[in-house]
Amino acid sequence: SRFYTLTHYPDGMPDREQFALETQTLPELVDGEVRIRNHWLSVDPYMRGRMSGFRTYIAPFELGTPMEGGAIGEVIASNHPKVKVGNKVSHMGGWRDIAQLPGDSVTPLPDSDIPEQAYLGVLGMPGMTAWTGLNLIAECKPSDNVLVSAASGAVGSLAVQLAKAKGCHVVGIAGAAHKLAWLESLGVEPVSYRDRTAQELSDAIMLASPDGIDVYFENVGGICLEAALSQLNEGARIALCGMIDGYNAKTPTPGPSNLAQLIVRKAKIQGFIVADHWASYRYFLNEVTPQIAEGKLDYKETIREGLESTPDAFLELFEGANTGKMLVKLI
Ligand code: NDP
Repeated sequence: SRFYTLTHYPDGMPDREQFALETQTLPELVDGEVRIRNHWLSVDPYMRGRMSGFRTYIAPFELGTPMEGGAIGEVIASNHPKVKVGNKVSHMGGWRDIAQLPGDSVTPLPDSDIPEQAYLGVLGMPGMTAWTGLNLIAECKPSDNVLVSAASGAVGSLAVQLAKAKGCHVVGIAGAAHKLAWLESLGVEPVSYRDRTAQELSDAIMLASPDGIDVYFENVGGICLEAALSQLNEGARIALCGMIDGYNAKTPTPGPSNLAQLIVRKAKIQGFIVADHWASYRYFLNEVTPQIAEGKLDYKETIREGLESTPDAFLELFEGANTGKMLVKLI
């Protein structure tokens, strides 16, 4: 088996040398274990938090041991009564080609015609995050004017479409021109944050949503949060999902200068972690799977090939190289 380890905890943007590709001969399966040939690996922004060396809501990666992450693969050997050879499963043994794990820790993929890697993206953790943030945290309703940052990413691109499907007016913030064009094709008002001050971004949001913002789905922080705060309507709700702008910061990032807008607008801001809501995953799947199958919801993937590309694919998330879900394809 080949796998990545972290050699040390990065300060600021990680560099390629912090990831070491290692090889080991896997031991015999013990009782209850399964062996999986990974087809797809997920790289996600939250993994940067696990590289910080201290516990957040999840333990840090241990230096020198196989890194972890979402993955989809096929069972090639099993010592577990319920997991059969040939089963397709999702699990956390990513950053490696062959995973050996307790069978109880893997989840069989639902029986469907949807490509298996969708269960790492639009029908997996990022999709569930969009659905949770919009419905359970922001309590989004059809009359809301919705704003989403990192709107063309894995989480954001489903958040904007779920809000559109409710009948909301939706504005999406993104970087590159092709991302803005995709958002526009989805019926979303696209707004670029590139080369803009918070004030300029705020003005652009006002133009795109003249009736203000009732729900803000926040993935970025920085000037996006500052700009959004100044466009809030009374009683607005902010689902604080991520703040990727600060994940590689070497020093604490300044807070928004206009946080007092929450008082003036009597608005709420609530952070959340999708894992806490996993009991609702089946409701999400029941709602979203048919819409994906029927092509009513669009999703995109940005695919890098080969295990060796995993660190770069991860680092590229912070450069905005992905549209939709960033994935690594192994076979
Ligand atoms: P994305 O697919 O959205 O990829 C990251 C995107 O963020 C990039 O493509 C880029 O798009 C944008 N971005 C990167 N750096 C910056 C920056 N400095 N300023 C503005 N935009 C930036 O990732 P995910 O959909 O997987 O995750 C989105 C957010 O959701 C992250 O903050 C993540 O941490 C969070 N998250 C939170 C979860 C929770 O449980 N709370 C669960 C899953 C994700 P662009 O080209 O538009 O800049």
